[in-house]
Amino acid sequence: AKSSGRNAYSFYTQALTLEAMERVRLETDLRSALQRREFLLHYQPQIDLKSGRIVGVEALIRWQHPERGMVMPDRFISIAEDTGLIIDIGEWVLHEACRQARQWLDQGIALENIAVNVAGPQIQRSDFVATVRRVLGETRLPPDRLEIEVTEGLVMDQAESTVAVLKQLSDLGIFLSIDDFGTGYSSLAYLKRLPIDRLKIDRSFVRDLPMDEEDAAITRAVIALADSLGLRTIAEGVENEAQVALLNKLGCQQAQGYFYGRPTVPEAIDWT
Ligand code: C2E
Ligand code: CA
Ligand code: CA
Ligand code: CA
Repeated sequence: AKSSGRNAYSFYTQALTLEAMERVRLETDLRSALQRREFLLHYQPQIDLKSGRIVGVEALIRWQHPERGMVMPDRFISIAEDTGLIIDIGEWVLHEACRQARQWLDQGIALENIAVNVAGPQIQRSDFVATVRRVLGETRLPPDRLEIEVTEGLVMDQAESTVAVLKQLSDLGIFLSIDDFGTGYSSLAYLKRLPIDRLKIDRSFVRDLPMDEEDAAITRAVIALADSLGLRTIAEGVENEAQVALLNKLGCQQAQGYFYGRPTVPEAIDWT
């Protein structure tokens, strides 16, 4: 037992070392990725459940790596956060998403909002609000077309400073959503204090709808909570018609997921 334990241990440390080396390689490449213009945004439609129409999109970053091909954000966003690279990458995302939204509006497309994911280190910088204002000015996008998504964990961790920033963004007219709602734990009192417009029901609760009774109960409760606080709801990870039917019945306003469309290049979004 002793020797097999030691073997398991050495495999474990070896795996850790490989993982660490992989991170270092990615980090090195990530440092030059912006300059080399290797990032792009894909957009996923957000559908109004009543009308069945696309009313918004969420911008999702991809990294077109010269050797690895398309690298997904789960592989590199945490590295970008740890190294501070997220500040410049995040600003690029914001600018590119706003530029694209402006272009859609100029084409006569009735885009209600474009959602952009914002990471903790971005929002915690003292110049974040100024950056957002500047980008909106540069791209001529009206603030009420921009939606900023922050995760539940981020909002709950950072107490006062985050609340202050969210207030300033909200005062500018920007739409605010809590992403992955239900995965962290938010006190109701806290939620009430935040200038939030919308809760995004996490994919993990949507996945097994309508059959999973616990998930159905949680989804129903989140929608009721949102209603009572005057917030809107969007369900993410919607993959089939049965989920849509239940979400509609529960009074969820919007849905996003593979059922309506995978994240794709801007030209491929079908607005009709
Ligand atoms: P997220 O914000 O929760 O984004 C939703 C993720 O679910 C996306 O993965 C999307 O492609 C995927 N998805 C959408 N519909 C479905 C569905 O019906 N079924 C399933 N199984 N998955 C679905 P993606 O694009 O790989 O992004 C992963 C995460 O990376 C995002 O999760 C977000 O946290 C982060 N991320 C993406 N872009 C950015 C960005 O520009 N900035 C920051 N800070 N984070 C980003
Ligand atoms: Ca999101
Ligand atoms: Ca999410
Ligand atoms: Ca379950």
